[in-house]
Amino acid sequence: MPTVFVTRKIPETGLKLLREKGYEVDTSEKDGVLTKEELIAALRMKPYDAVLCLLTDTIDAAVFDAAPSAKIFANYAVGFDNVDVAEAKRRGVVVSNTPDVLTNTVAEHTFALMLAIAHRIAEADRFTRAGKYEGWAPELLLGTGVSGKTLGILGAGRIGARVAYHGAKSFDMRVLYYDVRRNEAIEKEVNAEFRDSVEAVLKEADFVTIHVPLLYSTRHLMNRARLALMKPTAYLVNTSRGPVIDEAALVEALGNGVIKGAALDVFENEPALATGLSELENVIVTPHIASATEEARSAMSRLAAENIIAVLEGEEAPNAVR
Ligand code: NAD
Repeated sequence: MPTVFVTRKIPETGLKLLREKGYEVDTSEKDGVLTKEELIAALRMKPYDAVLCLLTDTIDAAVFDAAPSAKIFANYAVGFDNVDVAEAKRRGVVVSNTPDVLTNTVAEHTFALMLAIAHRIAEADRFTRAGKYEGWAPELLLGTGVSGKTLGILGAGRIGARVAYHGAKSFDMRVLYYDVRRNEAIEKEVNAEFRDSVEAVLKEADFVTIHVPLLYSTRHLMNRARLALMKPTAYLVNTSRGPVIDEAALVEALGNGVIKGAALDVFENEPALATGLSELENVIVTPHIASATEEARSAMSRLAAENIIAVLEGEEAPNAVR
């Protein structure tokens, strides 16, 4: 009977599928992320055929060594910067991810953040709860409108394209984007305008939103110099990966009025926040929950399981990453 190790409790959908196939499913009982040593020790317990891992697990050569019979590491995320894919390839181990099923949810969260920072929702909530509301006033907590503004997208793949769609269709936004690959679909569908550099997008956008994967080339994509190119009235939104922004430089830019505000779901050294970030009023932070809806997380569980089943049945994983 094939055996699967799951590194942390996830929604049942996929685990049920695996059990229905007759697989033995062992889920880590720890309430939290396994340390590297714990993960290695757990994998050595049995000759596992597959591992369902999370973005909080670092999957490298030492982990592959501990699971020599595992044919697939199915990552419960669309991003796979936590997995040494080149090492997996050298060993003939498949790595899969969970694209598409979370696109709508992450795009929604991006807009939730964008609207919340522009309309000062979190700040207003703190203000009201603190009993400071003394009656309607014409200039109380004035925010910034989103409709009709210019949306700048860095990375127009699945999620970036969906954000472009919402911006153009729901908020009449003019959409600019930079990507290493042209996305003709959004150019046609929502008149998105391609720019051939990050800088060109930053100079024109009122809202900049990041949707690139974390790669060597995207680490600190937003650094001090690039933050300075943004308009002082502009906002930065990040639901991709934390290290894409130099967070210390962002704190400085937010504090000095270089940009107007930021809304972040991901952080450079999660779960820690850069010094000074949480003291700023012009920032909204959420704890890496952009894909955290019941619908998306359940579908991610199912997709990870489908990839495992495909590989253990000798077929190609539908979402193998290269
Ligand atoms: P995708 O692969 O469809 O899109 C990524 C896009 O970035 C691609 O079009 C690619 O060409 C582009 N890109 C790559 N390198 C670039 C560079 N140097 N400059 C500009 N563009 C570049 O991926 P997706 O499904 O849209 O997901 C995007 C990312 O969002 C994931 O990699 C993941 O890290 C992140 N994500 C975060 C959460 C969360 O919970 N906060 C949830 C889901 C996804």
